[in-house]
Amino acid sequence: MLEVINPRTGVPDHAIEPATRADVAAKAAALKAAQPAWEAMGVGGRCGVMARWLQAVKAQAMAIGEADAQDTGGCHTSYLQGFITMGNIGGWLEDAPRAFAALDWDTMSTSMPSVRVQSQVVAYPLVGVISPWNAPLMLALLDAVPALFAGSAVLLKPSEVTPRVIEALFATVRQVPELAAVFDYVAGAGDVGQAVIEQADTICFTGSVPTGRKVAVACAERLIPCNLELGGKDPCIVTQSADLDRAATAVLRGAVYATGQVCYSVERVYVQRSVHDEFVARLVEKAAEVRLNADNPRAGHIGPFTHGPQADIVAGHIADALAKGATIECGGQVEVIGGGRYLRPTVLTGVTHQMLIMQDETFGPCIPVMAYDSEDEAVALANDTRFGLTASVIAGTAEEAERIGRRINAGGIFLQDTFLTFAKLRTFGSDSFGWSGYGAPRIGPESLRRFLRRKSLLTQTGPVADIRDDHHLGEGA
Ligand code: NDP
Repeated sequence: MLEVINPRTGVPDHAIEPATRADVAAKAAALKAAQPAWEAMGVGGRCGVMARWLQAVKAQAMAIGEADAQDTGGCHTSYLQGFITMGNIGGWLEDAPRAFAALDWDTMSTSMPSVRVQSQVVAYPLVGVISPWNAPLMLALLDAVPALFAGSAVLLKPSEVTPRVIEALFATVRQVPELAAVFDYVAGAGDVGQAVIEQADTICFTGSVPTGRKVAVACAERLIPCNLELGGKDPCIVTQSADLDRAATAVLRGAVYATGQVCYSVERVYVQRSVHDEFVARLVEKAAEVRLNADNPRAGHIGPFTHGPQADIVAGHIADALAKGATIECGGQVEVIGGGRYLRPTVLTGVTHQMLIMQDETFGPCIPVMAYDSEDEAVALANDTRFGLTASVIAGTAEEAERIGRRINAGGIFLQDTFLTFAKLRTFGSDSFGWSGYGAPRIGPESLRRFLRRKSLLTQTGPVADIRDDHHLGEGA
């Protein structure tokens, strides 16, 4: 058994039985056996099943939220996870029929006019989803739900750190037998993730860069495609003309929401030198009002670190910055309260790109702020990273923000605010640049198509070609 630590107490209060390689192979075989019937239902049939699942999730939405809060340490988003899941399934119920309608076609070839082309999409039989501990339900279902709508079966390997919410979710899946036949999970650590890769036809992975690289190598060995959603080191530029109060409010939320354990958190802030000090003063003032949820998981603004060891990584980044000359303006000390590990919003100044806190993903509520002089310098600093998930620009006018935003190398650029990822949802996709990801977008219409391959039936409606009629160029001249 693997013990599971409660992030609020630091004490194990749950356990999981890790799957063996044979368990993974057996579940994969059962899912693959059921998948053809699921795909044959067509998108309309699958929507009917998913609508019943939506009702089951609705009935359990509160319990799902409770389990997510226990897994993550509880913040307001956790308690909403059941409802967010309903939004995900309900959204695809609306969009999937339309998305599929445009995908098959039947036409005559333009290059060989006597040939009829019937082109259709077919689903990868088994999608393996490997998901992380931050936002454990949302990040599992962001891939699993569209894969199921596409007609694939899904085998999920959630993080061993946060298994409770997945157990609550599967209580709803089991209420819908047609779905339970094609959607299952296996518990365990990295070795179980590798066992899933051995069985799947394509992989969706969300997590860190080092693990993502291992996943990509394992997929390459099997010559199966993979979609990787990795970390970020997302910058925010605040210009001289910006409304500094608005900028400080947006930066604070973007950096410390969910204790900064969000892939698209603001992780670096560049402020025009003439307004740097005033911006920092406002940010520190607002940061002082952020309350921990140590007394009551449903109150406060930020919770403990979901995965205790993450606090050591964050503390290491702070120590490295201090050793290299940075100043802490507020926060900075990991506090242990009731066994949970907390960090209040931590604003640092005097930072440079030689510091880990400006280079590697910190994944904590830290806000390193650096002054810049010219717009070109701000853009160069924002682009001086191996990552490229999102970025933000807050300027005096939307036009100024847009001008700067268009020069930043990242998949999602938020203007005049931070944290706008959810505005894209299913309608608009965007890529991850650099180390932040690999493969097709995971939101927007392309996210569905990741699970589909195109197959064409070509019918000759005219006479067949006779090789004896083929002539070499110049023959008979
Ligand atoms: P990890 O990369 O450590 O783990 C992710 C998943 O992979 C977990 O289920 C883990 O299992 C599993 N795993 C570990 N080793 C292997 C292996 N060798 N082969 C296959 N699977 C393996 O990430 P974390 O769980 O620590 O999550 C935090 C990270 O996720 C952060 O760096 C964050 O940036 C990133 N992230 C990226 C997002 C994005 O969309 N770009 C969104 C959210 C998070 P187990 O946990 O059981 O060890």
